[in-house]
Amino acid sequence: MRYETKMLTAADIELAAHLLRQGECVAFPTETVYGLGANALDKRAVAKIYAAKGRPADNPLIVHCHSQAQARELVRDWPQQVQKLADAFWPGPLTVVLPKNPVVPAAVTGGLDTVALRIPDHPIALDLIAAARLPVAAPSANLSGRPSPTRAEHVWQDLAGRIAAIIDGGPTGWGVESTVLDCTRLPFRLLRPGGITLEDLRRLAPVETANSGLHTSGAPLSPGVKYRHYSPSAQVILVTGKRVAENIRRLAACHGQKGKKVAVMACDESRDNYPGVIFLALGSKANLQVAAARIYHLLRQADAMGCDVILIEELPREHLGRAIMDRLQKAAGPNIIET
Ligand code: AMP
Ligand code: MG
Repeated sequence: MRYETKMLTAADIELAAHLLRQGECVAFPTETVYGLGANALDKRAVAKIYAAKGRPADNPLIVHCHSQAQARELVRDWPQQVQKLADAFWPGPLTVVLPKNPVVPAAVTGGLDTVALRIPDHPIALDLIAAARLPVAAPSANLSGRPSPTRAEHVWQDLAGRIAAIIDGGPTGWGVESTVLDCTRLPFRLLRPGGITLEDLRRLAPVETANSGLHTSGAPLSPGVKYRHYSPSAQVILVTGKRVAENIRRLAACHGQKGKKVAVMACDESRDNYPGVIFLALGSKANLQVAAARIYHLLRQADAMGCDVILIEELPREHLGRAIMDRLQKAAGPNIIET
């Protein structure tokens, strides 16, 4: 189906809520990235999200709520440790996975018996969910595989003509998606690092990491982990280990000689190491919030500039750096150079 996609503002919440109640998809800003929302209790509405994004049907969606009471209606179990985390981090970039109530259609959860829930910390998102009087299933509002959208124009680039409307709320704050935590067992298990860090969570509850993202059986714990993600058209190469700058200069020269347009993505402190190439600045190493907020926009900008190759400097994998590196590693796929 082809849509005349409407570009809306915060003044049009009632119209957007009406579209959601009619079973249409509306993109809206959250504090992490833009989400593509639909009525989580209507499997036909949810099917439109998968169709618009080209998302594989077994990759489940996060359901966005405006209150803890609304979230609790969607699950069979609400452990005390989850209550503690919800009190500390909601509204905010933490998603909890719990056994689902039968009212949640299997279409939302990719056929799993669990559902992923969060309360977003953005006035437009909260007003929209409250006005719709519905839980809203919302993955990131990009074509599947592309970098997540952190501005309304990114959503427009990917989904114009494919969805009913986009609410423009300006650039999003965090820039990386929520932390996803499996709360169906103790210790809880980190399925995807995000805005709320492992260090933050461990102050309140026992949490282990699931580095491979796989069960011992080989089945993915979080189905989303097995798909290509966050990829611009340019080839992304992540350079890690010692002598990073030296390796990046060598790779840049090598690709440059082949006539390729090369960009380097790194923190401001490294700028002088890379004279003569396009520099995609992540801000200071001392403030990774800036890097998180910029990565997807910079990947899209590199495409807009016609870059063929993006060489990326590794960041420390702690606190917010863990989430940033998770996304950059997925964007690079197999192209990780370790020295
Ligand atoms: P996205 O909304 O595109 O940022 O992706 C949502 C992420 O949450 C994906 O990595 C999913 O695999 C994960 N997720 C959603 N629901 C569940 C669930 N019930 N169990 C495990 N992971 C989930
Ligand atoms: Mg996504």
